Amino acid sequence: MSSFASFEALEQAALGCEACALSETRTQVVFGVGDPHADLLFVGEGPGAQEDMQGVPFVGRAGQLLTKLIDGIGLTRDDTYIANVVKCRPPDNRDPQPSEIEACRPYLEAQLDFIAPTVVVTLGNFATKLLLDTTQGITQMRGREYPYPAGDDRLNADRVLIPTLHPSAVLRSGGARLADVRADFVLVKRALARASS
Ligand code: URA
Repeated sequence: MSSFASFEALEQAALGCEACALSETRTQVVFGVGDPHADLLFVGEGPGAQEDMQGVPFVGRAGQLLTKLIDGIGLTRDDTYIANVVKCRPPDNRDPQPSEIEACRPYLEAQLDFIAPTVVVTLGNFATKLLLDTTQGITQMRGREYPYPAGDDRLNADRVLIPTLHPSAVLRSGGARLADVRADFVLVKRALARASS
């Protein structure tokens, strides 16, 4: 269970966090956005330049694509919660380091505990590897759903996790991978319908 008294206490702790060196270069912490009671939670990698400036996840080009994908399954961003593996921007958009991911992990785990979504969607390699405790790449992992929690908590798995490509990877592919992501979002829609029936 979470060691934070409330979701607000969690957010306040994260906003003042100095647990890793990313705190020295960030403009602000990008904690997360959306409905704290959402059935659907997205986990990205970490804030980029736009997110660092605005304090909101997925507001740049990748974010616009994510918003369209959410619209495509009949939802809006406000129906969901959007978070990241690391809450502070890695300088020059470099990959987050293992030590930074570990330092930030309690915040993501507490977000998952408080929000308790029925469907978790990991966007790209970093979120997928962290939450499914795997070394397999996203291309191998996507296209199906997994029980969540994974690993030792697997027997208590009462949610599903659906890994998909990061929207930035779809943009970099020139749209070639868009059909894959759309197929994964169909799985998301079905999993949500199943959970509410
Ligand atoms: N990419 C991410 O992984 N997260 C964001 O918030 C923005 C871009």
